[in-house]
Amino acid sequence: MKTETIAIHAGNHTDETTGAVVQPIITSTTFERLSDESFRGDYIYSRSSNPNRTALENVLAKLEGGTAAAAFSSGNAAGMAVFQSLKPGTHIIAPDDMYHGLRNQLKQLFAGILEFDFIDIDNTEILKSHIKSNTGLIWIETPSNPLLKVTDIRKVVALAKENNTKVACDNTFATPICQQPLKLGADIVMHSTTKYFGGHSDIMGGALITAEDNEWWQTICKVQTMGGAIPSPIDCYYMVRSIKTLPYRMRGHVHNAQLLAEFLAIHPAVELVLYPGLPSHPNHEVAKEQMTGFGGVLSFQVKGDREDAHRVINKVKLFTKATSLGGVESLIEHRATVEGPDTKTPFNLLRISVGLEHIDDLIEDLEQALS
Ligand SMILES: *Cc1c(COP(=O)(O)O)cnc(C)c1O
Repeated sequence: MKTETIAIHAGNHTDETTGAVVQPIITSTTFERLSDESFRGDYIYSRSSNPNRTALENVLAKLEGGTAAAAFSSGNAAGMAVFQSLKPGTHIIAPDDMYHGLRNQLKQLFAGILEFDFIDIDNTEILKSHIKSNTGLIWIETPSNPLLKVTDIRKVVALAKENNTKVACDNTFATPICQQPLKLGADIVMHSTTKYFGGHSDIMGGALITAEDNEWWQTICKVQTMGGAIPSPIDCYYMVRSIKTLPYRMRGHVHNAQLLAEFLAIHPAVELVLYPGLPSHPNHEVAKEQMTGFGGVLSFQVKGDREDAHRVINKVKLFTKATSLGGVESLIEHRATVEGPDTKTPFNLLRISVGLEHIDDLIEDLEQALS
């Protein structure tokens, strides 16, 4: 089946008892035993599994081309489940441009439990030189937040295989509509489903999808069900509902982002545009190889300093000044402010989550804000 069809059908089934075309929300936390102590179906207690979560996990696994998925209450909970599944003392290699919430999680919650290095992962020599005998995981994020760096997934996977180590990929910016890391050899894909999957800035969620149902995956499932950082049935329902339009929404985000990037790239008040869809992007060729669309987020550096960036961000009218991404409405933010004092993000950098408004209106708004 093609992506559009999977998105609509893999997370839904007609209800057998009522004929409802849309799967109902089952809020019950517990399920009745029969006289022989067995259950009617697969459900016992909702922390372990729930019909709406099963539906969500089905569609997530199929969209990424994986064998199984685990849904979490946030992207950070999904990332944390990966780190918690590793044996103490395991060494993780992660990119220097990594989602700050997960970088801080490693630094502040896993220091002394796991070892980690944040490196320029796109430099093969640097990556090779950091692989140690206890390296158990290479974490990648591509395109990355907020610098839109592109990591060659196949290259990292080849090096990981040679060294008997695993690869997990944060695929939040791309979504499976634009990039499928499992097909390129990654072991696990992670998502903040808060972003494009939810798509309307109103549901938090996270997901892990695995290529293989192996011992590592079973440990991750234990972290999910014993730890209990699970999404509610209502959140699962709304996530499934949103995913039905994900392929079409992504097309719109990609279309608008490309045009906005091209507009900014030739604007005299702009120093640099970071978007994988521009030929000027340092890894544009890799992006073309491994992506079917370049995503809906772009960053750009305003000519000047922090003050100049602030002037632009305070002049936009249509873009909402807020963090996060992936919603139908366009957002803009001064990323260094969001990331706090230890940020490495340039102070003249603004990040845009390009929404689904008409592109002419978005361009017009940025045009007046930059003038
Ligand atoms: C938002 C985000 C996360 C964290 O997800 P939450 O749902 O906010 O917990 C992780 N990685 C990336 C790339 C993100 O954009």
